Amino acid sequence: MADIPSHARVVIIGGGAVGASSLYHLAKAGWTDCVLLEKNELTAGSTWHAAGNIPNFSGNWGVMNIQRYSTELYRRLGAEVDYPMNYNVTGSVRLAHSKERMQEFERAIGMGRAQGLDMEICSNEDLKNHYPYLETHDLAGGLYDPYDGDMDPSQLTQAFAKGARDMGAKILRFCPATGARRDNGEWVIETPKGEIRCEYVVNAAGYYAREVGKWFGRDVPMVVMSHQYMLTDEIPELEEWTKSNGGKLPLLRDVDSSYYLRQEKTGLNLGPYERNCVAHWVEPTDPMPDDFSFQLYPDDLERLEWYIEDAMARVPLLGTAGVNKVINGPIPYTPDGNPLIGPMPGVPNAFEACVFTFGIAQAGGSGKVLAEWLTEGATEQDMWSVDPRRFTGFAADPDYALAKAKEIYGHEYAMHFPRHAWPAGRDRKCSPVHDRIIAAGGQMGAYNGWERANWFAKPGDDTSEDATQTWGREGPWLPRIREECHAVRDAAGILDLPGFSRYRVKGDGAAEWLRGLVTGGLAKPGRIGLLYFADEGGRIITEMSILRLEEDFFFLITAAGAQWHDRDWLLKHLPDGSPIEITDVSEEFSCQILAGPKSRNVLAAVTDADLTKGWLTHQTAQIAGKHCQLVRVSFAGELGWEIHTQVADTAPVYDAIMAAGTPMGLKPFGMFALDSLRIEKGYRAWKGDLSTDYTVLEGGLDRFVRWQKDDFIGKAALERQKQQGVKKRFATLIVEANGHDAPYMSNVWKDGEIVGETTSGAWGHRIDKSVALGVLRSEAAEPGTRVEVEIFGERYPATVQEDKPLWDPENERLKA
Ligand SMILES: Cc1cc2nc3c(=O)[nH]c(=O)nc-3n(C[C@H](O)[C@H](O)[C@H](O)COP(=O)(O)OP(=O)(O)OC[C@H]3O[C@@H](n4cnc5c(N)ncnc54)[C@H](O)[C@@H]3O)c2cc1C
Repeated sequence: MADIPSHARVVIIGGGAVGASSLYHLAKAGWTDCVLLEKNELTAGSTWHAAGNIPNFSGNWGVMNIQRYSTELYRRLGAEVDYPMNYNVTGSVRLAHSKERMQEFERAIGMGRAQGLDMEICSNEDLKNHYPYLETHDLAGGLYDPYDGDMDPSQLTQAFAKGARDMGAKILRFCPATGARRDNGEWVIETPKGEIRCEYVVNAAGYYAREVGKWFGRDVPMVVMSHQYMLTDEIPELEEWTKSNGGKLPLLRDVDSSYYLRQEKTGLNLGPYERNCVAHWVEPTDPMPDDFSFQLYPDDLERLEWYIEDAMARVPLLGTAGVNKVINGPIPYTPDGNPLIGPMPGVPNAFEACVFTFGIAQAGGSGKVLAEWLTEGATEQDMWSVDPRRFTGFAADPDYALAKAKEIYGHEYAMHFPRHAWPAGRDRKCSPVHDRIIAAGGQMGAYNGWERANWFAKPGDDTSEDATQTWGREGPWLPRIREECHAVRDAAGILDLPGFSRYRVKGDGAAEWLRGLVTGGLAKPGRIGLLYFADEGGRIITEMSILRLEEDFFFLITAAGAQWHDRDWLLKHLPDGSPIEITDVSEEFSCQILAGPKSRNVLAAVTDADLTKGWLTHQTAQIAGKHCQLVRVSFAGELGWEIHTQVADTAPVYDAIMAAGTPMGLKPFGMFALDSLRIEKGYRAWKGDLSTDYTVLEGGLDRFVRWQKDDFIGKAALERQKQQGVKKRFATLIVEANGHDAPYMSNVWKDGEIVGETTSGAWGHRIDKSVALGVLRSEAAEPGTRVEVEIFGERYPATVQEDKPLWDPENERLKA
């Protein structure tokens, strides 16, 4: 048994595929002084029994990136670490039952192409050629990925372990971590064999991540589900086929029926994600055992009956064999089904690489991402879709986590349509005027748990979930969004917007400190500024509206979803012992957006504030006897104010404004209209248009950089980039699109080459055109350049616009 070291740079808790890959990637990056603790044998958690399917496909850009990296790595890993591995690159077919599913495939193929993948659309005939045992009569077609496949998850883990050990990293098996404490700026990890002091710690404890998180005061948002697959007896016909074809059948996923079917030796492996799914260890009567190493749940095939029958009709060969074995094991789920990879929220020098539902496919990529976080402090690609800070406290609530886990598991392969709001776990955080918004027809969406209206339906509109099952622009919402945008253009609109994240920053030196964090210049007291935070590489970390009250007293306002991310960024950069106080006051205040040419008249009827004060000013005022902060900005791009109040004062203020404004044409509007309005103005949205995939200059935010400032984070990198020339550039495009606007990460083509991607797209109801924002190679970003935007497999002509808003280019309406 290996001796336990007293000190290590990093301790990883958990020796599944993900922990082992993390150790391997840290060692590869030169961090060899790292220790992995595994309480049992490597792979004892979910890894040993996983089916080992390794897809590239994902509807999510970041997740596809992770999986693509894995499949590339696995093809060479055996040789790289000198460990023999059975990696069967069989290719895969994915079946489509509908036109919408084919569109989803087209979109994934497009994203894959941009990442260097080579997936292709299949006709039913192509499907049959790839997979002769398939019934295709009712299919709309499919997708083929030549680089999908399967591998033995234990071999994968052992290969990572060997590679890591060979480079000097340590693995201690049968050595559980039993606690952790912070001491003198270090972590002390407790084990029955002694303690290890370390700089960094990684929670890679799989379905035990919640238990490990508790030592750090971290409530990990997760639930453990049960997932089963069944293995059939040998099938002589398949054996014959395999012999004569020299390989296995491709992996098959009937995503609309919700299962995978894979050849395992000369039998088949069928694994459904069933709607009537089951969670474990959530009731007091079913406590989580201290140790579940190498154990399984009892078989429960009844739950899978529908899926088994469906698969037998699809591949009749399956019906010729009996069930040989069932594997029913624990599989952890976060509330959105993506894993947690990155900084542990609110905890210094602690990281997470846990709660994986596809941890075999994602182990390679997640190890890379985790190692980048630790060794470089940032990831190569933006990884927000797996960043632990995308969830905030409410998401760990057991009822919420359970409702979402079941919803995700039961819809594992579902299409995520842009106008669909998933129904589970809703109404967690409601505005005081929630009932009024619903009564006005509000069709709600959840934003970091906060319920906001997406659009307002009228009596008779189809508000069913069915109606949202489309990628198209058209739908019951379209005329309403248009009316809402036009109300904002012609009269006024109000949007109740609970949930902005906000921090009060106060204390001696606050201004000086903030100045070093943002790229631009701070506003004077009484004014507000839009400011960007960059990392050392000049890449966009976040955007905040910074309201200055006094010399050293600020309110920082940022996106609802950025609450923990931005808090951690601020705290990380606050020097020890600083007199500056940072308080998260997100739950105390709310906001209503009032926008449109009549908004001044509406406000004048309810307040005696000075409404002549110009753009980017703020002032305190009274509305309905309640204290408000009136901020003269407008994300909708019209004359307008944000009205910030105490949460408790939302209703009287809303009522007063509605009563005064309705006769003037004031209408409530929703998030979908706001998205259209802001895109027409070229205003960026966080983690779509604004992400660490782009530097501040690439994001076209040059005018938000004050070069003459002494120093700020990212200045040196941005100066370098400016000197060397910026190779890609933000651009606004008008797309001659048909019935769809460009989704996130649509390829932009020029002369047969991909020259960039869109970061958002919408129909502009004030300019009556389809608009996309994106980032293109600088030469393609020149105004007037003709390009093509690939939307669900079709390329549409598009033209790069001048670098100014499409609506009200001189901001005259905004500043009126
Ligand atoms: C039936 C089934 C089929 C699946 N099929 C696939 C598939 O085809 N493809 C795919 O990608 N994924 C699949 N999965 C999911 C996959 O198994 C998991 O996502 C993956 O194994 C997670 O790996 P991990 O390293 O994060 O966690 P785990 O493998 O669970 O590893 C965590 C490790 O941490 C250890 N540990 C816990 N607490 C401590 C502690 N205090 N101290 C030290 N060690 C500790 C545990 O013993 C365990 O070994 C499947 C899952 C199931 C249930």
